[in-house]
Amino acid sequence: AAPAPAASPTPARLTVLAGPTAVGKGTVSADIRARYPQVWLSVSATTRAARPGEVDGVHYHFISAEEFDRLVEAGEMLEWAVVHGRNRYGTPRRPVEEKLAAGVPALLEIDLQGARQVRASMPEARFVFLAPPSWEELERRLVGRGTEGPEERERRLATARVELAAEPEFDVVIVNDEVHRATDALVEAMGLTPVA
Ligand code: 5GP
Repeated sequence: AAPAPAASPTPARLTVLAGPTAVGKGTVSADIRARYPQVWLSVSATTRAARPGEVDGVHYHFISAEEFDRLVEAGEMLEWAVVHGRNRYGTPRRPVEEKLAAGVPALLEIDLQGARQVRASMPEARFVFLAPPSWEELERRLVGRGTEGPEERERRLATARVELAAEPEFDVVIVNDEVHRATDALVEAMGLTPVA
C-alpha cells in the first residue's frame, strides 16, 4: 500500500475506512462529523447494546438480532460481519446508494471483514487503512479506554494482530498519531480539500 499521496487524488465517491480495534476509527469519525459536514458518514446497524453517550441513529442503529436477520434476508445490508466473535454489525445499503446517486462523498467506518465484502461488490471504492503508530500504542489505547474487560481485551488484541497484517490490501495507509492530522489525511485521500 502507498502512503497518503501528496497531491489530492481524484474525488472518491465511496471511501471505506478500516483498521484494527482501538486504533481510533471512532475518534476520527467523530472528528469528520464535527469538522467535515460535507462528508456523509454511514450509520451502521448493530446488535450490540449502546454504550453511555451513544445515540441511536447517530452512532449506530441499535437493533435486535431478529431485525438484523430480517434486513440481511431482505438484501438490505451492503455488508455485514460478526465482529470480535460476538455482535453483528452491518451497513444499510439504501442510504449509501442514495448518497452515491446524489454525488455526496460517503464514508464507511467498518471492520476488515466488511471492507473485503465491499471490495468484492464495489471495487471502485477507495480503501483506507488506519494504522496505529506502534503495537505498544495500540495496546495502550485499548487498555486506556477501559470499555472492555480483560477477556474481551485479549480477544480484541488477538484480532488486531491478524488485522494489522491486512494493511497491504489497502489503497492508502494513514497512521493515527494525532486525530486532526489523521482526519485531514483521510479527507485528502477522499479527494477533498482539508480545512486550514
Ligand atoms: P464498537 O463495538 O467498538 O463500536 O465497534 C467494533 C467494531 O465494529 C469496529 O472495528 C468497527 O469498525 C466495526 N463496525 C462498526 N460498524 C460496522 C459495520 O457496519 N460493518 C462492519 N463490518 N463492521 C463494523
